[in-house]
Amino acid sequence: VPLILPEFLDRATALYGDKQAVVCEGRSFTYKELNGRVNQLSHGLRELGVEKGDRVAYLAPNTVEMLEGFYGIFQLGAVMVPLNIRLIPDDYLFILNHSESKVLFVDQDLYHLIVPIKHKLATVEKIIVQYKDEETGEIDYDQWLSNYTVTAFDRADLHEDDVCSLLYTSGTTGNPKGVMLTHRNNYLHALSTMHHLRVSDRDVYLHVLPMFHVNGWGSPFYYTANGATHICLKRATPESIFKAMQDNKVTVLHMAPTVLNSLLLYFEKNKPILDQDVRVVIAGSAPPPAFVTRVEKELGWEFIQVYGMTESTPLSLFSTIRSQFAHLSRVEKSKIKAKAGYPMIGCDVRIVNDLGEEVVHDGKEIGEVVVRSHGVMKGYWKNPEATMETIRNGWLHTGDMGTIDEDGHIDIVDRKKDIIISGGENISSIEVEGALYEHPSVLEAAVIAVPHEKWGETPHAYVVLRDNQQVSEDDIIAFSREKLAHFKAVTGVTFVKELPKTASGKIQKVHLRHEYWSSSG
Ligand code: ATP
Ligand code: MG
Repeated sequence: VPLILPEFLDRATALYGDKQAVVCEGRSFTYKELNGRVNQLSHGLRELGVEKGDRVAYLAPNTVEMLEGFYGIFQLGAVMVPLNIRLIPDDYLFILNHSESKVLFVDQDLYHLIVPIKHKLATVEKIIVQYKDEETGEIDYDQWLSNYTVTAFDRADLHEDDVCSLLYTSGTTGNPKGVMLTHRNNYLHALSTMHHLRVSDRDVYLHVLPMFHVNGWGSPFYYTANGATHICLKRATPESIFKAMQDNKVTVLHMAPTVLNSLLLYFEKNKPILDQDVRVVIAGSAPPPAFVTRVEKELGWEFIQVYGMTESTPLSLFSTIRSQFAHLSRVEKSKIKAKAGYPMIGCDVRIVNDLGEEVVHDGKEIGEVVVRSHGVMKGYWKNPEATMETIRNGWLHTGDMGTIDEDGHIDIVDRKKDIIISGGENISSIEVEGALYEHPSVLEAAVIAVPHEKWGETPHAYVVLRDNQQVSEDDIIAFSREKLAHFKAVTGVTFVKELPKTASGKIQKVHLRHEYWSSSG
């Protein structure tokens, strides 16, 4: 059997056909029904002239349509280009033209973002609008879909190494790059992930992370293949998340630490009823250790941290792979769980120095994280130079720095670009942020390097305080000196109302650096 993604929905339809596949905003479909809609979609796309290898772009929040879009597009051998819903029109213009997309699906609520650039789209031939309720002149999704039969679609001749998606990176550090992932990348990544997450048909998965981003991207594969139920929320707020969890008996959800932070706050204020058997997976960035303790202690949920990046489909490390920590205290355990963890099945992860040699396994020597795995991308779309720079001798160079201990446990120290070099010492901005998050008045914190006459660089914090809190810069500096070695303590604090974030909830330190430079003249 070739390792191609449509297999996953075939399997769910055959084994779990009458089971609920997806629930979204009051609508729900069984796996048989979902499969029928997917077939309609593939028939419709074929009639629009979409062929194997063509790019089909998708601009939508988490919906039934987005979920069926994955499989409907893959059956044709076409390439899905999911678009981040929080971009500006010019970004869409760049990605749609750069990817040379032929068809664009867009949610009615987001259509206004496309209007200003429509006349500049070089390759898009058709725009299909979902939940269309006003005159746009475009094709109405539901009406269009109903023209086609739900019966089996005569699938394109698919190969494992065919590209199935073009995923643009988060743009945390600069312009997003188009990452080409193949069916094989996604298939094997899904097998490995479903094993480590223990996914089964008893699972009810709540989509909190957006499907358009790589961290939410894999969930339509590993949860579908096992006949789990997808719960989609168009808008994920703490209130709607807790409500959806109660209404649907959710067992697992993935999110960014910043979203988890807002859930914890909401929980403290409103004390909603909780189900205890929930697994919460933190994807996409480093959670402060204080969060881990709070999740397990206050919410009673199992905390799982993962590490990955778009270029590796994304995951390669899991915090829960070994259980030898059972004897540790909660605090000790949360410190370990707040680190990235162990390589997943099929992933070789190493930490190397500038010469490409493995660092000593002592948990101290810092080097770059490199990955060789089934998930490593085919390359960056239309950017062979960047591909060659990133994948060298078969190893993906992540740009992240880490350590490995004698046990093989890997800790992500920081992005190479975010490390603060002070008096010749490396300081992890993540570690400093972790200390600030222990302060009872701190809601969010981000730490960047700023120039210093004596030390070269020192850590400077951007801090958002909780409601009605009065704290001075000196208080925060003193607190950080209490919690950290003095050379790691922050030397300045800027209080802000909010921090700049990507759509997946990552703090964009690149913007903070700009702000720092422009405000310090
Ligand atoms: P861009 O490449 O466009 O600047 P990005 O790197 O944020 O954006 P993603 O591929 O979404 O785009 O994110 C991957 C990055 O997220 C990793 O390279 C790493 O820096 C960070 N990250 C992911 N998981 C973890 C983790 N568990 N701990 C620390 N950092 C993490
Ligand atoms: Mg990156």
